[in-house]
Amino acid sequence: MATINENFLNLKESYLFSETAARIKAFEEKNPSPKVIRMGIGDVTLPLSAAVVEAMENACHQMGQQSTFRGYGPEQGYEFLRLAIVEYYSRRKVLLDTSEIFISDGAKSDIGNITDIFSNDNIIMIPDPVYPVYVDSNIMLGRKIEYIDANADNGFLPLPDSRHADIVYLCSPNNPTGAVYNKDQLALWVSYALKNDAVLLFDAAYECFIRSDSLPHSIYEIPGAEKCAIEFCSFSKTAGFTGTRCGYTVIPKALTRKSKTGSDISLNKLWLRRQTTKFNGVPYIVQRGAAAVFSEEGQKQVKKSIDYYLENARIIGETLKKCGIAYFGGESSPYIFLECPNNMPSWEFFDYLLDKAAVAGTPGAGFGNNGEGFFRLTAFSTRENTIEAMNRIANLFA
Ligand code: PLP
Repeated sequence: MATINENFLNLKESYLFSETAARIKAFEEKNPSPKVIRMGIGDVTLPLSAAVVEAMENACHQMGQQSTFRGYGPEQGYEFLRLAIVEYYSRRKVLLDTSEIFISDGAKSDIGNITDIFSNDNIIMIPDPVYPVYVDSNIMLGRKIEYIDANADNGFLPLPDSRHADIVYLCSPNNPTGAVYNKDQLALWVSYALKNDAVLLFDAAYECFIRSDSLPHSIYEIPGAEKCAIEFCSFSKTAGFTGTRCGYTVIPKALTRKSKTGSDISLNKLWLRRQTTKFNGVPYIVQRGAAAVFSEEGQKQVKKSIDYYLENARIIGETLKKCGIAYFGGESSPYIFLECPNNMPSWEFFDYLLDKAAVAGTPGAGFGNNGEGFFRLTAFSTRENTIEAMNRIANLFA
């Protein structure tokens, strides 16, 4: 008899986005006007940049010619893309080798799959509130999770405490809170990991939103991180690849952990073995598009798109300030995590804002217990919709 992985039964019903969608739909049916403005979306609205499209078109053409056709590519990704990423990191004085970079079909897959190379008896530390993939991928394996509180008191940037953990998930700039760790704070986590022989899983999916020179884009800007951290990154929010799918994972050669027999095992080697067994690479056409992001033209174009979203975030922040509503994020991040006015619970505020202003966001409680009382707005709408939504919020609270 086939038995199931019972751990799946311990997953909480992932009802956050289905529930918000259902409430919006019911509201729209009763109230056809004004149009509901969706400020909860985590997807980008701007299209792929011209440099990316041109590179993809050229690659498409190559795939249709006998002399330049390519079949299966290297599981780890084409050298041309890995070289472009190495060069990108070197701009911040992070020196990597192409063998330390793994091209993926997006950060979500690698963040979910990285659990394969760690044993089930690891203690996992996860901030609360959090991007739900970290929690669910560990629940699926029945692993013990220790939550670490992110809250208004620590600016949603929890630091190590006296508890021991073997694996720690960090996300900066953070989804959902928009908070960004500085170098000193990350140095505390690196030092914790080195002391505890722990591994940091650092999610840098939003690094390209960082505009302040002093904030770290990569965990490897912290000395010693190459011995204790794996970094995940994505072209989704950087360059509009949410539908095209491309990301990368960095596992330094210096990152080793002991096997039960006491040998030093390279995590890079384990992940390479995992990927060559279970993954067959990202399409050549997509990788050519991703490489174009790092060209001079590509960099200018993606910066323009990110500037557009950051200006939306600034407009949201300005409105909230005018209304006297406290919030986190919104700088160096597309996410704004606001304190629900009048101590409203976050689902109640969702209904209130929908009902009174026809604006939809995401209740913070959906990201963890500490998200209760908070509400996430994103900067991924169009400028027009962002301004209109903020006018409605200002009319309600200012
Ligand atoms: N990490 C965080 C924190 C995210 O918010 C997201 C997407 O929303 C991802 C990873 C996944 O990105 P990708 O589209 O590359 O799978």
